[in-house]
Amino acid sequence: MGDRSDLEINEAHKRRMAEVQAEHRARIRAAKAADAGLLLVHTGDGKGKSTAAFGTIVRALGWGHSVGVVQFIKGNWEVGERRFFDRFDDLITWHTMGEGFTWDTQDRARDIAAAEAAWQTAQGLMTGGDYDLIVLDELNIVLRYGYLDVDAVVAGLAGRHPRTSVIVTGRDAPEALRQAADLVSEVAAVRHPFDRGIKAKRGIDF
Ligand code: ATP
Ligand code: MG
Repeated sequence: MGDRSDLEINEAHKRRMAEVQAEHRARIRAAKAADAGLLLVHTGDGKGKSTAAFGTIVRALGWGHSVGVVQFIKGNWEVGERRFFDRFDDLITWHTMGEGFTWDTQDRARDIAAAEAAWQTAQGLMTGGDYDLIVLDELNIVLRYGYLDVDAVVAGLAGRHPRTSVIVTGRDAPEALRQAADLVSEVAAVRHPFDRGIKAKRGIDF
């Protein structure tokens, strides 16, 4: 009989300890979640997705946060945001897809290689834990072209350092990314000057 009650006492103790452990873990999770970075997606057909991301960068820099940008677009044409943020290269790390790349293969293979290199760069920034905010501008576009695997990208985003927030921009955000995100904003196109033949404007569009 003594043995049975020992057994009962041990079982009850084990249950209680499991409860205490579960409560403790839940508290740690909640505390972590409170200052954990967010995954934000700016998508839709209207103008403003990248602009909103650059506006958020200004907001973050205002608080002394560290910021990284990877632009998943071809080429190196000059854009006002780069011209501006280059003045603050001590505060912001900026990469453009294709920079320093050797263009010696067919176009599609070349684009895929450039996208993969840019994604490697992005992953380095995301896992390092040095950044509060990282903008992956037009990542949705290379996903739409199939240059990167959506599941691999979503897994990479989920595996980022917990302190780091990431903004992904571009039309046609894939469903898996929308599901994974903490915030999804769709910019709707109501009217755009391009519809009346007005070309992209310096200081407004680039
Ligand atoms: P922005 O960089 O101005 O915030 P965006 O990131 O929302 O624009 P993108 O899909 O990256 O939009 O396209 C960038 C370029 O295409 C910009 O020059 C922008 O003005 C133009 N653009 C965006 N939406 C439209 C539209 N609905 N019709 C025509 N041009 C558009
Ligand atoms: Mg954009």
